[in-house]
Amino acid sequence: AALALHPGSVEELYELLETLGSGHFGVVRRCRRRSTGVFYAAKFIKTRRGRGSRRGLERAQVEREVGILRDLQHPNIMRLHDLFASKSQMVLVLELMRGGELFDFIAEKEMLSEEEAIGFLAQILRGVQYLHARHIAHFDLKPENIMLQDKDVPEPQIKIIDFGLAQKLEDGVTFKSLCGTPQYIAPEVINYEPLSSATDMWSIGVITYILLSGLSPFQGETDAETLSNVLDGAYEFEEHHFSQTSEMAKDFIRQLLVKEPRERMTASECLVHPWIKPLSRKQAAKRSRSSINMKNFRKFNARRKWKLSYNMVSACNRLCRMRLLCGQRTEDEELRGCESEQEDEGSHPATLLRRRRSSCS
Ligand code: ATP
Repeated sequence: AALALHPGSVEELYELLETLGSGHFGVVRRCRRRSTGVFYAAKFIKTRRGRGSRRGLERAQVEREVGILRDLQHPNIMRLHDLFASKSQMVLVLELMRGGELFDFIAEKEMLSEEEAIGFLAQILRGVQYLHARHIAHFDLKPENIMLQDKDVPEPQIKIIDFGLAQKLEDGVTFKSLCGTPQYIAPEVINYEPLSSATDMWSIGVITYILLSGLSPFQGETDAETLSNVLDGAYEFEEHHFSQTSEMAKDFIRQLLVKEPRERMTASECLVHPWIKPLSRKQAAKRSRSSINMKNFRKFNARRKWKLSYNMVSACNRLCRMRLLCGQRTEDEELRGCESEQEDEGSHPATLLRRRRSSCS
C-alpha cells in the first residue's frame, strides 16, 4: 500500500516520548499514536535547507531510504508506518524494536549453543533473502543494525534496521560506493569495484565469524590495517578460539568470506547449507553440542559498545574544538566520523569509507 506523506507535524498524530538512540543526522524517539495508543519509533532526520548548506542530509537521499523501506513487508525487516516532512527535517515513523540489539541480548546469556545462534542467523538470512529477491542490497549489515522486536519472549524475532545505505540494484547498471564500516565491508567496496547482493553476504560471513568466536576476522590496529586484511583475505580459525566450533560452521563461513563475489553463497544457498538446515540427525546433534565462545563474545561486545560511545564522545569533543576554531561549518563532517575504529583522522582510504551518505552513491 502506498504510504502517504503527512503535511502536518508529527506531534499532531503522535505523542513523542524518550530518546531511543541517535544516528548521524538526528535522533530516534519512542512515540505513541494518539488515536490507537500503539507505540512506534520516530526517526528524525535533518535535511539540508539549500544547495549551499552543509548541514543535514540531502533530501533526495532520505527519499531514497523511504522509497526502499515503504515497499518492504517481511517479518525480519523493520516496517515503515508513517512519514512526515517539513522544510528542515523528515520524520520516519517506524516499527518499534523493544528488544535492543541482538548482540547485547546474546552477551547477557550464560551460554548459547550453535543451534540457538543458527536460529537468529536464519532469521537474518530470511530477511536478506527477501531483500535480494527484490534486487535490494542493504550494504550496511553489522551488529548495530540487527535488532530484536522483543526480548522477553521464547523466540525473539529479529529485524534488520537502517536502510540508509541500501540500494535498489538495476539490471545492467553498475553501482559502486565507498561506504560502510571497515570491519564488515567486502573487498570489492575497498577496490571500488561493482557491488551486488553478494556484498551483503560477505558481511554476513563476518557477523557469523564474530558470533561464533567473539573475534573480528579482519580487525587490525587501525582502519587502514583492517582494510588491508580484508583485501588480503587474511583470516584464520585459530584453534584456541574455535575449539568449540563445529566444522560445518567453519565451512559455512569459508563459503562467504570468498574474495570473488560470484563465488560466495547467496542467502538462499545459505539457508540450505547443512549447518543451517541439517540433512541428518548426526549433523543436527553436532550443532547442539557446539557452542559459541561466550567469554570472547562478551569481551567483543563490551569493546564494541565502548568504541561506539567513545567515538561519539570524541567526535563531539572534536566538534567543540572545531567550533571554537572555525565556527560551526564542520559539524556534519565531524559527526560523520563516529563509526571509525580509531580516534584520529588520517588521509588513508578509511577516511573515505567513513564519509557516509554525503559523498556516496
Ligand atoms: P547511522 O548513524 O548508524 O547511520 P542512522 O542515522 O541511520 O544511524 P539508525 O541506525 O536507523 O540511524 O538509528 C539510530 C539508533 O536508534 C539505532 O542504533 C537504535 O539504537 C535506535 N533505533 C533505530 N530504529 C529503531 C527502532 N525502530 N526501534 C527502536 N530503536 C531504534
